[in-house]
Amino acid sequence: MAMGHLYNSTLARMAVVTWSFLIWGLLVAGQPTPEGFISIDCGISSDYSYLDKDTNFEYVSDDQFVDTGTNYNLSTSSISSTVAVQNYNVRSFPAGDRNCYTLKPAIQDHKYLIRASFLYGNYDGLRMGQDNNPILFDLHIGVNFWAKVNITDASKEYRFEAITVALADFIQVCLINTSTGTPFISSLEMRPLKTSIYKAANASQSLALYGRANVAPSATPVIRYPRDLHDRIWYPLIFEDWITISTTSTVSNYPDDLFEAPSVVFQTAAIPLNSTSLQFNFESEDGATSPKYYAILYFSEIQVLTGRSKREFNIYVNGALWYGPYSPPYLLSSPVHSIENLAVNRRYEFSIIATANSTLPPLLSAFEIYSLMFLTETMTDIGDVEAIVAIRKQYQMKRNWMGDPCAPKKYAWDGVTCTYSANAPRITAINLSASGLTGYISTSFSMLKAIKSLDLSYNKLNGTIPGFLANLSSLQILNLTGNCFTEPIPDVLLKRSAAGFLILRMDNGTNTCDNGFTPETITKKKLTTPVIVIVSIVPVVLLALAVAVCIVLISKRRQKDAVSDAGRSHTEEFLLRNMNLEDCQVQLESKQFTYLQLENITNKFTRVIGQGGFGTVYHGYLEGSTEVAVKLLSGWSSQGMKEFLAETQNLRKVHHKNLVSLVGFCNDGEHMALVYEYLPQGSLHDHLRGKIGLTRPLSWRKRLQIALEAAQGLDYLHKGCKQSIIHRDVKPSNILLGHHLEAKIADFGLSKAVLSDAQYVSTVALVGTPGYMDPEYHRTLQLSEKSDVYSFGVVLLEIVTGQPPIVQGTGKVHILERVKPMLNRGDIEEIVDRRMQGKCDVNSVWKVLELAMMCTEEYSAQRPTMADVVVHLRESLTLETSCVRGDSVYSERTGISENSDFRDISGTFGPSAR
Ligand code: ATP
Repeated sequence: MAMGHLYNSTLARMAVVTWSFLIWGLLVAGQPTPEGFISIDCGISSDYSYLDKDTNFEYVSDDQFVDTGTNYNLSTSSISSTVAVQNYNVRSFPAGDRNCYTLKPAIQDHKYLIRASFLYGNYDGLRMGQDNNPILFDLHIGVNFWAKVNITDASKEYRFEAITVALADFIQVCLINTSTGTPFISSLEMRPLKTSIYKAANASQSLALYGRANVAPSATPVIRYPRDLHDRIWYPLIFEDWITISTTSTVSNYPDDLFEAPSVVFQTAAIPLNSTSLQFNFESEDGATSPKYYAILYFSEIQVLTGRSKREFNIYVNGALWYGPYSPPYLLSSPVHSIENLAVNRRYEFSIIATANSTLPPLLSAFEIYSLMFLTETMTDIGDVEAIVAIRKQYQMKRNWMGDPCAPKKYAWDGVTCTYSANAPRITAINLSASGLTGYISTSFSMLKAIKSLDLSYNKLNGTIPGFLANLSSLQILNLTGNCFTEPIPDVLLKRSAAGFLILRMDNGTNTCDNGFTPETITKKKLTTPVIVIVSIVPVVLLALAVAVCIVLISKRRQKDAVSDAGRSHTEEFLLRNMNLEDCQVQLESKQFTYLQLENITNKFTRVIGQGGFGTVYHGYLEGSTEVAVKLLSGWSSQGMKEFLAETQNLRKVHHKNLVSLVGFCNDGEHMALVYEYLPQGSLHDHLRGKIGLTRPLSWRKRLQIALEAAQGLDYLHKGCKQSIIHRDVKPSNILLGHHLEAKIADFGLSKAVLSDAQYVSTVALVGTPGYMDPEYHRTLQLSEKSDVYSFGVVLLEIVTGQPPIVQGTGKVHILERVKPMLNRGDIEEIVDRRMQGKCDVNSVWKVLELAMMCTEEYSAQRPTMADVVVHLRESLTLETSCVRGDSVYSERTGISENSDFRDISGTFGPSAR
């Protein structure tokens, strides 16, 4: 149903009503504007306000309610004596798809009447809006459609009115550019209403006024405030074959009156001239969007009925009984109202017909007709809105940052990413890179509880980096590169980063803020100097224990009862190896062992736990109980060992929970060995294709968990140290698993040492393992972090399929070539490792396969970084976790799928589910 009011509606047979403040002389001077009333004259200068001579309301400039637009005065030739003063100026919005007014303060859950008016008056000299050249634009209240403004007469005032419930402490009115003329506005008003009236307006629907009339002679003054305390506007209306009756007596409202129409509206009423029925109709306009309308007819008996006189009538809509028989009470307001479906022909014929018992004709005092606005769009989480609005204010953001940040999706703010799956949209990422931000980091960022990625790089932000950013539990990526911070990164952020929960990007100690970055230069800068350092790594899981260890150590020192290093408990030893000990001013270096010590540790090399290209790996015990793996290197030169140790020493301070810790080494000239922490569950290779994999296949969730942890380890190698470390031999046998299947990357640094060991590499030009090797590296011999990304992509394919990268005896077809055709066919069931028995979330499988394909792109520039991979995997794991929550039969301890009552979704495999 089209919205509007009598002034521009198609109500048939109704007199044309001319709005005029001049004929409406109300004696209201001296009354203050009631609390909560907002009256805005759009387009007047910011320092100007005035009292309206009729209502005595103070009309103020719109400057404080809107950030955009241009003010115009109407030319004097456009202003006739009947034009209200509020229409002398307009604010016009030539730029932006959506421009919004924020009416504030409002009270959340309270009801408001909103009124907007538009008088074009050829303000821009373009003479649009006349003849066949209308101006069309939409109005929204908040995130929902309110009305279509269709200006066809330049000298006419168009008014729109709605009753709506505030969903926050403000109400936004937005003008939407629909590419047919420039949106503009003349005035905007907000009036609080009692929540007990107009009950049809609630949190899920609003009412848009179609027409409101006081049935009275046309010369009757328009009624609004103060006679209507809610400042509704009641235009007089009478039809030719109706006559009016009137009273000077006051008509009262019942205490719980649902509409509180003013007495004056009831003091005149119409009765039919020569018949026993009153009839009127209205038609909803073409393009009506609402399927329902809401009609309220007002009655009150204003004649004294004597003797046997009786007034009784029925009310019909389109011939069907709507209400009756009915006799209105004497001098009491009595509305009849109901919500009706939109008629097929959009025409509504109201007939008020006297019953056979009635000695008097029917009467009608007033009526209102609304269409229902269904609030189908949901506004963004209010906490997020408040935060981003404060951020916008602090940094004076322009862009298209108006209205709701996420909704409707079409008008979401540039640089703001939202999720729409929950009840209310949430802000999950903000990219304000190279946005000219100055000053400090806004505290309002701390209110963005769902944010995953925050990019503030290449601005001129200064001061300290606030620790509250660490409290944003969803934050996964924080990019602060290229700013002017004066203080070091707070420990809390470093610790979150160290725990693998946050990818933190910062300059490497250099202040780049004076380098003249502009949005134009920034892309170049990012491409040419990708030196991003992810700072410090401390396993947070161990943090609490670390503190405990520190306390224990300090107190032990204080007591001076000399507990030597050798006397440290094995737990302490383990913890110290796995933490960034700079926090408690203790540093451990990799320990040097003699061959004799290694013999003791390994009980004379009795238990072999593996055999690799570098030598045999033995199980051993340090100080009797801490398990270690001793890798006895064969075929290494002393130089190779030196290179390797130099490399591993770099890692001494940068331990990570997803990297296998180096406990020590042996290099006595004759024997060379490396001593590592022991990972009791073997390698990922053992679980995918080894013995363990046959008997206890890994669940999908656990596979994802392992992939994520391994990716975190690699990401740390790439970005966690001042110098990037490229692993060069990423494969499942180099992903080792701890007690609870926690994954750690092994053998980093080894390959580089091999390559630099001239003796060893005399016949070897490439390092890496066939099947995992980056084809670009193969072609160019140029190694980069993206070579590891490629190898990791192959590992991901193995994780999904359970198959080796190259199947011997089948023409050595690579896993990529085997998977791609199935993927193109959407044949996921065929791809997925059958040992998982289809017990996996198809969406997360798709995500991982897509990620694997990205990682294994032919050209390294097209591959993601490991940081990107981490984020993708985290999302896949979240998908999987939410899918299995409630009906999971995983063993949380082992991560193994344990029985068959796990939800089997193999039948739903398919690309469309993504
Ligand atoms: P390549 O040397 O060709 O890369 P690889 O990675 O399997 O192959 P190694 O790193 O020498 O070779 O490891 C051989 C095996 O020893 C591994 O597959 C694993 O089962 C076991 N292993 C190695 N390091 C550890 C460790 N720290 N804890 C437990 N087991 C280990």
